Amino acid sequence: MRKSRLIAPCGMNCSLCAAYQRVKNKCMGCNAHGQHKANHCAVCGIKNCEELLRTKSHFCYSCGKFPCKRIRQIDVRYRTKYGMSMIQNLQTIQERGIDTFMVMEKRKWTCHQCGSFLCVHWGQCLQCGNRNDKYPRAAHSPTACSRPGQRRNPHGAERPRI
Ligand code: SF4
Ligand code: SF4
Ligand SMILES: [Zn+2]
Repeated sequence: MRKSRLIAPCGMNCSLCAAYQRVKNKCMGCNAHGQHKANHCAVCGIKNCEELLRTKSHFCYSCGKFPCKRIRQIDVRYRTKYGMSMIQNLQTIQERGIDTFMVMEKRKWTCHQCGSFLCVHWGQCLQCGNRNDKYPRAAHSPTACSRPGQRRNPHGAERPRI
């Protein structure tokens, strides 16, 4: 699957999601079909929006109602909790193209310590435990590692709301 297929119509990069990065019952992303997709993503009002079906790009930026209330709500939640903006992602994809966006995402979200992709939902790299400095509450994260380099199980602590 092309990496860009992991960008959801709302602008979410599913490769940064805790459900995509987990080992067991991994979700293969918004654009894939699979039994392990989080229920609220399977029934997502954005992914299943009728207006979206009418767009050629299959991204919300092509919709005449963009940014609608649903997009604004998820954008506020993600900006506040996770330091990431869906609307900004979509604007970048629209203005600069999906390939450039993918390059920017890789640069932005690569762990400086181990080179893995960070998870937007966690304050530490799930592979090596290094701090995720994009995470707004990193200092108070319930997932804080007791030892540097300790690998975190994303379900070993409080689960984030994706
Ligand atoms: S749970 Fe939702 S946001 Fe996460 S990878 Fe699956 S479809 Fe994407
Ligand atoms: S921006 Fe348009 S396509 Fe996207 S969820 Fe809103 S109404 Fe649907
Ligand atoms: Zn790491």
